[in-house]
Amino acid sequence: MAIRPILTVPNPILKQVSKPVDAVTDETRKLMDDMLETMYAAPGIGLAAVQIGEPLNVIVMDLAKEGEEPQPKYFVNPEILESVEETLPYQEGCLSVPDIYEEIDRPERVQITYLDYNGECVTEWAEGLYAVCIQHEMDHLKGVVFIDYLSRLKRERAVKKVIKAEKFRATA
Ligand code: ZN
Repeated sequence: MAIRPILTVPNPILKQVSKPVDAVTDETRKLMDDMLETMYAAPGIGLAAVQIGEPLNVIVMDLAKEGEEPQPKYFVNPEILESVEETLPYQEGCLSVPDIYEEIDRPERVQITYLDYNGECVTEWAEGLYAVCIQHEMDHLKGVVFIDYLSRLKRERAVKKVIKAEKFRATA
């Protein structure tokens, strides 16, 4: 496993639409292992492959709370089958937009289908933080970052902040 650099806004790769994976192979699993290690090291609770520069429909996630056993989840070619009308506001953040947190409204329950680490098809309902996180990560697969939901002014301010922080990090 290897920790890979995480791309940050406004990197144009983050705008790319990711491609479906043909089959879950050892290569896919290696990518998922790298993604999980990168996510844990960041640290974060979810990561899409495009965030490490691989525009493929692959997501990893771990919503375990501090002190709990790790609960890694892997999603290949995830799709939303159904979502409820009720929305849940949640203060979101993103490893590609470090240190920026904004409240976003999303459906509070979604039914998803995906292939897991072993290529088995799973269909289930996600709710609460799981629903928020899977929708956030699936947006990445469409080239959408959560700040795209904000006003133009707020979005530009967020991007400027990230650029400034990245420059500082590079010279520090
Ligand atoms: Zn994100």
